[in-house]
Amino acid sequence: MQHCCEFKPDDIYYLRDNDIFSSRKLAIGFCPICSKPVAELSQWRFDGKYDRFAASGVRANDLVLKYKDEIVYSLKECNYTRFKTKPFGWKFGINKSSKTGNKEVTRQYACDFYGNKELIKSFQL
Ligand SMILES: [Zn+2]
Repeated sequence: MQHCCEFKPDDIYYLRDNDIFSSRKLAIGFCPICSKPVAELSQWRFDGKYDRFAASGVRANDLVLKYKDEIVYSLKECNYTRFKTKPFGWKFGINKSSKTGNKEVTRQYACDFYGNKELIKSFQL
């Protein structure tokens, strides 16, 4: 992967083929120099053209979220199948609200793309 320098991806997600692209891979990592998250999508178009798209920072996060439903498996998932409970790899936050009576409790979770989640904090409104 490439940002301020060349570096190895932290994880690689393998995506489902679609009508136009195959051999689709989404590499994610953190730049060792500026520590920004970097995501790089690479795929082959049906007519043999190699397609590559990279984004960093907030846009890297958007790129991963955009393709998260197309992830079939990841390199880390194969290497570390023993991690089953705690989120690992690329994490994203979700908020869940539940109402009890007239109190509303919002819980913040850190999630990964393997269905693991961890409660970070909860607060009442
Ligand atoms: Zn950088």
